[in-house]
Amino acid sequence: MADIIELLPDSIANQIAAGEVIQRPSSAVKELLENAVDADATEIKLIIADAGKSLVSVIDNGKGMSETDARMAFERHATSKIKKIDDLFSIKTMGFRGEALASIAAVAQVELKTKKHDDELGTFIEVENSQVVKQEPCAAANGTTISMKNLFFNVPARRNFLKSNAAEMKHIVDEFIRVAMAFPEIFFSLTSNGQQVFYLEAGNIKQRVIQILGNNYNTKLVTVKEQTDYMNIYGFVGKPEAAKKTRGDQYFFVNNRFIKSAYLNHAVNTAFENMIAKDSFPSYVLFIDLDPSQIDINVHPTKQEIKFEDEKIIYAFVQAAVKHALAQFSIAPSLDFTLNADIQQLDAVAKPFTTEKREAASSSNLYKTFTGKYQAHKIEPNEKSELSHWKDFFTKKENKAEQTIEQKPISPEIPTLHSLSKFNNTYIQLHNTYIIVANTTGFMLVHQQHAHERVLYEKFTEQSHSTHPATQKSLFPITLELAISDAVLLEELLPEIMALGYQIENFGNNTFIIQGTPADVIQGNEKHSIELLLEQFKHFSSDIKFSKREKLVRCMSRQHAIKAGNPLLQKEMQTLIENLFQCTTPNVTPSGNPTYLEFKEDYLDRMFGKI
Ligand code: ADP
Ligand code: MG
Repeated sequence: MADIIELLPDSIANQIAAGEVIQRPSSAVKELLENAVDADATEIKLIIADAGKSLVSVIDNGKGMSETDARMAFERHATSKIKKIDDLFSIKTMGFRGEALASIAAVAQVELKTKKHDDELGTFIEVENSQVVKQEPCAAANGTTISMKNLFFNVPARRNFLKSNAAEMKHIVDEFIRVAMAFPEIFFSLTSNGQQVFYLEAGNIKQRVIQILGNNYNTKLVTVKEQTDYMNIYGFVGKPEAAKKTRGDQYFFVNNRFIKSAYLNHAVNTAFENMIAKDSFPSYVLFIDLDPSQIDINVHPTKQEIKFEDEKIIYAFVQAAVKHALAQFSIAPSLDFTLNADIQQLDAVAKPFTTEKREAASSSNLYKTFTGKYQAHKIEPNEKSELSHWKDFFTKKENKAEQTIEQKPISPEIPTLHSLSKFNNTYIQLHNTYIIVANTTGFMLVHQQHAHERVLYEKFTEQSHSTHPATQKSLFPITLELAISDAVLLEELLPEIMALGYQIENFGNNTFIIQGTPADVIQGNEKHSIELLLEQFKHFSSDIKFSKREKLVRCMSRQHAIKAGNPLLQKEMQTLIENLFQCTTPNVTPSGNPTYLEFKEDYLDRMFGKI
């Protein structure tokens, strides 16, 4: 047998390696923006065409590159950012692996124009398939312009893998925001297909946050700021009233790098405990600065996860800082103020670079105060105990009651309308949430919100498959002005939303006009409805098992369902229950919760010792 192992040609090896760094246009956006930041630019312009599929171009006024460096920059592992292994532990720049430009050059056509401030002439280089195809001196402005054209032109399989323009553009906007948010002292702009999407004048963090998240945050931000020798935290949390129904505006930056951390997110959430509804999410933009040696740098640079040397302390500090901020702005008036004394203890916690210091930190009052259960800052929930216990009785899966109550959400014998209408029924509403209704074999306890969600779900599903969705025209067209990333999302969802009966027109400039709503939706509050729909959709969007349409239908039925706590008239209860039992699957909500419980006569008899 002949030998069978061969070395991959360079071009293929490069393309494979590139796949790790450049997955989609937005990956290049991130890398190129970070390079511009590292080059000390004070102005960075991002230009996009065709959602980055045909062009991603970054223009900076940073320090530029020499002729040799310009050529070197495209070699794999070519970096000016580390020289020796020790540098890894004190890294302060965004990049250091020297992989980004090499990766981009392996999967796209790249043009680079660059000039150092002291040089007369700049350098122009064209690279394709990792090969330099042109290099010449040229006249150029100070700084660097890199254009990446026709991403994956040489890897059609990956090109086909890219999503719709709207989806890719959303990724780009996300990356742009993450970099722009972290460097408010730099001017950033984003232009897409010739249209200016962002124009962010240099300013302070608060200005930048408002530029990006929208003016309505102006009065809703609370400053967070705690400094210790170990770490600094600063930034903003939204006041409780700015909390959202889905995790929308949540940003953590560690040493100015955007990260995703469920752990730290939890720290913020617990600081908000009992100040916002359980099912809503606080908004925050928080920056944590700490000694780079406290972070595990061995994490892949394009991944947004991070490992801290001492997670628990960071958790406690984040939580403490947010609580402190909320308390200071007297958002939590019922607080017990032993707080200032505690915060002063921060100094005791302040220098835990040594083991003793760290121990001191974790045994300090501050640490305990904020990690213990009955800390000074905990606000007890407003107990509506009877009601909530009563609810628990029926809803908690682990509740003992479960074993005795015959609960068959997926029961094959579903009561029919007939079995209900045999009685001239009166409906009893309990706690404005449950409806008790007799049927031929006993009685049913219907959860009004769950039931209505099921009814709407089937209606909307049917609507979405009809060619002429039922629409009610709005009396007055409603103008909807969205944050840019939401506008991109709405644009993407527009065909599906219209299929459900909404009439919405894109007016340009992130503005939409609502002209009509689905027939089954109560009018009024359309603006809020659409905003909420987008929020919920984002929440759902990682769930790939559902189509866009299915997600929307689910969001809409949840959103428009009669809520628990809402008093209902006899007639309304009757219609709801009739509609419920006309559904194909009346017994569960789309997400699988029971819509009613059934109590059969023989079971009741047994309970009363009659059998
Ligand atoms: P890394 O950023 O990890 O060093 P890159 O492949 O992104 O690797 O870039 C390689 C090198 O090219 C950088 O280290 C830097 O010296 C140089 N470089 C890249 N982009 C720019 C830019 N916009 N301005 C100046 N130098 C740049
Ligand atoms: Mg880089």
